[in-house]
Amino acid sequence: MKQNYDALIIGAGFAGAVCARELAERGNKRVLVLERRDHIGGNAYDCPDQSGILIHQYGPHIFHTNEQRVFEYLSRFTQWLDYQHRVVANVYGQLMPVPFNLHSLEVAFGDRAPRLEEKLLAAYGPERKVTILELRENTDPELREVADYVYEHVFVHYTMKQWGQTPEQIDPNTTARVPVFLSRDDRYFQDTWQGMPAEGYTPLFARMLDHPNITVVTGTDARERLDLSDGQITLDGKAFCCPVVYTGAADELFAFRFGRLPYRGLKFQFETHNTEFFQTHGTVNYTVDRPYTRITEFKHMTGQVKKECTTTVKEFSYAYTGAEGETPYYAIINPENNTLYQQYKTLADSYSNLHLLGRLAEYKYYNMDAIVKQALELADKLI
Ligand code: FAD
Ligand code: UDP
Repeated sequence: MKQNYDALIIGAGFAGAVCARELAERGNKRVLVLERRDHIGGNAYDCPDQSGILIHQYGPHIFHTNEQRVFEYLSRFTQWLDYQHRVVANVYGQLMPVPFNLHSLEVAFGDRAPRLEEKLLAAYGPERKVTILELRENTDPELREVADYVYEHVFVHYTMKQWGQTPEQIDPNTTARVPVFLSRDDRYFQDTWQGMPAEGYTPLFARMLDHPNITVVTGTDARERLDLSDGQITLDGKAFCCPVVYTGAADELFAFRFGRLPYRGLKFQFETHNTEFFQTHGTVNYTVDRPYTRITEFKHMTGQVKKECTTTVKEFSYAYTGAEGETPYYAIINPENNTLYQQYKTLADSYSNLHLLGRLAEYKYYNMDAIVKQALELADKLI
């Protein structure tokens, strides 16, 4: 192939697609996007399953952000369906809102809830979000009892399933994503903008990548066409000096030179049921038992109307090994792994035109909106 591109983007998820569009449109660059999978969209990819239910192939994705720039940018490529995600924990068959809030307190503590609520509000203030680790430091015996209840019934078993470690052993920012919320707001997120792309994520990506300056090649592993030896980047055997934005795993790009970066993998089990709805909420977290972490029912999220059936997905987490067929989903953030990642980052930085961008490439626990923000900011810099 003739090398007539001004930028190369590896990966067609949010990081790659936003960056490609910006460089093509605002930067007037001819952009080549290489994507290993046979479709665009990265982990946000959705498609109809065999029953015609719109599913998220790589796990449930709900858009939410407080970043106006991100919301306005994506709104160029989609309309939004108003959807406020609500999650309940299944605690031995009893359902209570997650994040654990004042409604959950009533379910869990019954008649004692008003007094405990009063104490919680006096200690932390109304509408406050308190992390479980912070709540467990409280020395008041009654509040300590609440903390222990939430730890035992919401966090410890779920976290063990998801990470293979206890809440104390993992990065505190992870459990802080789902704090105890001293409120009666049952929504999972309180962000200003939240919803689902009205026609789904894949059409959003298709529109974003539909630009005369963008060429997308799917089903191609960029490593087959790239060479990073000798301190420079070659594409199809010729030096490529224009920007290269890489959104895959950093260790993979450099053939695991310093060792493998640890990740958690996920196995998704999709099931179609011959009933209109399977469960009451978009997601039910199984916080005390079952081998899976959660069950999500897509129709609640997508608003799809179909009386005769519905599809759910169960998520099973495991330690990613890199074996054939496994996909890395969650970086395991801790000081040791961050140090290993830094070795790859330093190596990447030695190539003046190579940019690591995205959840895998940056080894971070990013939501979609954070990636879009990062991609817009990298494009600002490159343009
Ligand atoms: P990805 O979407 O992973 O895209 C990277 C792309 O690069 C992939 O398509 C991959 O195939 C491709 N690639 C990698 N290596 C190569 C190569 N060598 N050659 C060619 N192509 C390559 N965020 C939210 O905001 N809300 C949610 O509800 C939410 N739910 C989630 C649920 C799950 C189960 C998971 C795992 C994540 C969830 N996220 C959610 C996070 C969201 O998935 C990420 O923020 C987002 O997808 C990251 O985009 P990205 O472009 O960095 O990575
Ligand atoms: N978590 C938990 N119980 C829950 C929900 C979350 O213990 O019911 C913890 C768990 O450690 C999880 C983390 O909080 O990994 C972040 O949860 P979130 O729902 O944000 O995870 P994601 O949707 O990214 O998988």
